[in-house]
Amino acid sequence: MVLEIPGQPLKYQQVDIPLPTAVQIQIKVIACGVCRTDLHVIDGELTQARLPLIPGHEVIGRVTMIGGEVSGFQVNDIVGVPWLGYTCGECKFCRSGRENLCDNGLFTGYTLDGGYAEYMVADARFCFAMPEGYRGAPAAPLLCAGLIGFRSYRMIRPEARNIGLYGFGAAAHILTQIAKAQGKQVFAFTRESDTKSQLFALRMGAGWAAGSNETPPEQLDAAIIFAPAGELVPKALKDIGKAGQVICGGIHMSDIPAFSYELLWGERSVQSIANLTREDGHAFLKQLQITPVKTQTTHFQLSEANEALNLLRKGKIAGAAVLVMV
Ligand SMILES: [Zn+2]
Ligand SMILES: [Zn+2]
Repeated sequence: MVLEIPGQPLKYQQVDIPLPTAVQIQIKVIACGVCRTDLHVIDGELTQARLPLIPGHEVIGRVTMIGGEVSGFQVNDIVGVPWLGYTCGECKFCRSGRENLCDNGLFTGYTLDGGYAEYMVADARFCFAMPEGYRGAPAAPLLCAGLIGFRSYRMIRPEARNIGLYGFGAAAHILTQIAKAQGKQVFAFTRESDTKSQLFALRMGAGWAAGSNETPPEQLDAAIIFAPAGELVPKALKDIGKAGQVICGGIHMSDIPAFSYELLWGERSVQSIANLTREDGHAFLKQLQITPVKTQTTHFQLSEANEALNLLRKGKIAGAAVLVMV
């Protein structure tokens, strides 16, 4: 499924099967999750996309060919391909353990072709060996929704107990399971009067769920905003207590309205989360061994990608949408 012009639907096309370079593996895609970031790329809100582009950065696939310099993977291994597709290893961020901020980074399904395809290639150094139990379509959303959600969660001070999740989709439904297992109390915020998503949140382990306009029954210690709605930043600042953190987990957000300094006072903070490091990925996969998670996924065929994207845009997907290649 190819993006030729931002703002237009993807086109179902025959393209050549890509061959791996020395550091790449060729992958037969099993499944690729549909992420909100894909919408931002396709709609042109993220402006650096390579064109034409095959989107998709939540890939589970089987290795079919290996470049000459690749170590650690063999043909038939099941791998996961995340958003972070390449870093330079030389800039000040790479040299200080912050490769997520690399000045020369490349991103799967954005500046590199991704997984809305039957085959793709990926730099083996950025792929993950998927553990047993996470090798099929339900594991696809773990590669971004799970991973970025986990990075957002790790930014929160460990003593925080009451955690608000704003926007209850793919990331929140995975993270709730981990937070709950660690003794946190999860407060889920959905679109106003979206009772279906609120029930879903409660089923996933949230202790309370309501529209994002509602005030939670207890003060929050931290908030993670997954919805791309800037007005949630001052709202979340109202919901947290002193020294509370507001973490913005998405790559794009509408403008944040002006707010009084009083909302930030008391050492409250607002922080964005950008991309991921490979270390985040390894830590997350390790966490899954301690607290297994179950994703809720709705499956689509590759040629139905536009339909899946439209349902995601309308908030009609409970959990995560996944394209499953046959
Ligand atoms: Zn770098
Ligand atoms: Zn994503």
